[in-house]
Amino acid sequence: MAALSNVTRNSKVLIQVIGKSRTFSCTAVQHGSGKRVGFIGLGNMGGPMALNLLNKGNSVTVFDVYPEAMSKLQDAGATIGHSPAEVAEKSDTIITMLPNSSHVQEAYAGENGVFQTAKPGSLLIDSSTIDPSVSKEMASLAEKKAMTFIDAPVSGGVMAAKAGTLTFMVGGPEKEFPNAKSVLVNVGKNIVYCGPVGSGQAAKICNNMLLAINMVGTAEAMNLGVRLGLDPKLLSNIINTSSGRSWSSEIYNPVPGVLPNVPASNNYEGGFGTALMMKDLGLAQSSATRSNSAIPLGSLAHQLYRLMSVRGYAKKDFSSIYQFLQKSENSN
Ligand code: NAD
Repeated sequence: MAALSNVTRNSKVLIQVIGKSRTFSCTAVQHGSGKRVGFIGLGNMGGPMALNLLNKGNSVTVFDVYPEAMSKLQDAGATIGHSPAEVAEKSDTIITMLPNSSHVQEAYAGENGVFQTAKPGSLLIDSSTIDPSVSKEMASLAEKKAMTFIDAPVSGGVMAAKAGTLTFMVGGPEKEFPNAKSVLVNVGKNIVYCGPVGSGQAAKICNNMLLAINMVGTAEAMNLGVRLGLDPKLLSNIINTSSGRSWSSEIYNPVPGVLPNVPASNNYEGGFGTALMMKDLGLAQSSATRSNSAIPLGSLAHQLYRLMSVRGYAKKDFSSIYQFLQKSENSN
């Protein structure tokens, strides 16, 4: 049955190629469990994701510019590729998990990039958080080579990457979604189709902009309350049973000691770094400029996180905005 569905999928790829009057020798590619998956970018997120793919019985070829990241995966049974092009040669589905837009452009369209060697019909899944316009640019280059590029950024941090419980926000042709899902279920729990290519990035950027705004607001309100003499636990209980409640106040409160097991109660270590939040807010800002959308609070949050990054908070969790506000006041 599984073999039959692969034949059906591959036939569709062939028809698509013929329909565009291209003369590729279209090697049948396979997607899904037990498949040849390439993984590029083995950092905090990509390393555990590639490991989960291996542990679920996929054959995985990996590449990272940092050799030590690859040797860890090799010890776990992965094949090493020496460039994105070599990974693509050995894979039918390729996942990238890279820092930002320029790394993605390099890995796909660079001199030794995926597009040099990937077979027609290959499925290219970019899970990095990048500019949606770059996702569209990569998708259009892929289409010219009869490959499919989809964006599938994630929510959930390193813990979720390790546990295989990430949420994927997927943008691309809807007919490719089942193929993408059959691979992504190896590394995630919720795989959500968002629309055409770039839609996954759009969803991720909007969510994170709102998260940043909520966090800044929560930190501001908590700081004011504490300075007015309120007990922070009592204030957070009131907020969380009133209309000011948000994920930032209830699940991820930025005041040390209010909640156990959150970065605020661990000197703002672990969690989601200020530098990463600053990056996502930068993406929101450029998307807003391009689409002529007003994001006054998103822009302000971006500037605040920028300021924090240059003032030594770059590696601290983004809830450290509370400490930043507190220290700004104390220095006056
Ligand atoms: P990271 O910096 O830990 O890892 C990136 C990896 O990519 C590094 O190992 C680096 O050596 C490698 N790399 C860089 N350029 C490369 C290239 N040209 N070819 C091959 N490898 C290359 O970053 P991360 O925390 O794993 O984040 C990856 C992506 O996931 C980012 O886009 C980030 O915004 C997003 N993200 C991160 C988190 C998080 O909590 N860390 C959460 C959600 C989304």
